[in-house]
Amino acid sequence: QVELIDISKSYDKQTNVLNEMNLSINKGEFFVLVGPSGCGKSTLLRMIAGLEEITGGVLKLNGEVANHLPPKNRNLSMVFQNYALYPHLTVEQNILFGLDVKKVNKKEQKRRLLETAEMIGLSELLKRKPKELSGGQRQRVALARSVVSEAPLCLMDEPLSNLDAKLRAHMRVEIRRLQRKLGLTMIYVTHDQVEAMTMGDRIMVLNDGKVQQVGEPITLYNEPANTFVASFIGSPK
Ligand code: ATP
Ligand code: MG
Repeated sequence: QVELIDISKSYDKQTNVLNEMNLSINKGEFFVLVGPSGCGKSTLLRMIAGLEEITGGVLKLNGEVANHLPPKNRNLSMVFQNYALYPHLTVEQNILFGLDVKKVNKKEQKRRLLETAEMIGLSELLKRKPKELSGGQRQRVALARSVVSEAPLCLMDEPLSNLDAKLRAHMRVEIRRLQRKLGLTMIYVTHDQVEAMTMGDRIMVLNDGKVQQVGEPITLYNEPANTFVASFIGSPK
């Protein structure tokens, strides 16, 4: 469903953030992307979402070349690393914003809002503004906004990094459950080894703009391609 063919990215024409990346992510797959800070994880998600120009190669979505497809026609949702909430809107309005734009009827909006808020633990906070929330609560609003869209492709950029350990463990299970239930294709960026190992159908390890290894968690653990992968995954090898 998501295909990257020789994808490269440079911001300044001299240094490549990503180098000729080739990757195919299957429909319904939970695909985890890990790598050190600055290796290009957010850049890659933003290119798939259409928020960042692709400077080389071809992006295909559902078999169609999508390099220049407008973001709103990509049928995906994204949870941003910095949440990107609208400060002047309430939690409820933030969550429903995308559905309003898409003209989803009010009854359906209400149903999805209640279900999502309940699941993500936001039911008590719907009338607040973002500035009246903690960092973890804001992160949950960003997550809720993605979930209500019910878009078949979901891009998440470190969605749990600001939550406390207990909520993080709960949300790992909830996100995975939801992804399976809705058959979502997920591209999920994390710094957290446990998240990568427990959530991913496959993991891609990125470093220095290059793919170090792609595979099932057990394969990366048992047969890391190099010492970088081994140390990142926490493999004994
Ligand atoms: P983190 O784990 O810290 O979020 P990341 O893997 O998401 O890191 P990116 O945000 O994709 O990394 O950034 C990759 C590289 O591109 C970094 O060196 C960064 O400084 C650079 N970069 C990102 N955005 C821009 C921009 N708009 N203009 C110029 N350089 C940028
Ligand atoms: Mg990032």
